[in-house]
Amino acid sequence: MLGEKCVLYDRDCIECMECETCDLDPKKICDNCGKCIDFQDVASIKIDKIYTNPAEYSEE
Ligand code: SF4
Ligand code: SF4
Repeated sequence: MLGEKCVLYDRDCIECMECETCDLDPKKICDNCGKCIDFQDVASIKIDKIYTNPAEYSEE
């Protein structure tokens, strides 16, 4: 979002939507369908941030 730091590159967000694009279909915006996640016995996810103080959290 404009006014925030880009989640992929060292720059401010220019709303290019690259971070929202589907990994399998570049014409699609990710709808969290899960098709790109190949679950085996275990799976991992990337955690962007952990809040230890509830007062620091704000819904974006
Ligand atoms: S929309 Fe583009 S500029 Fe903004 S955070 Fe996503 S990749 Fe970065
Ligand atoms: S969750 Fe679905 S829409 Fe999102 S990147 Fe994966 S396959 Fe594409």
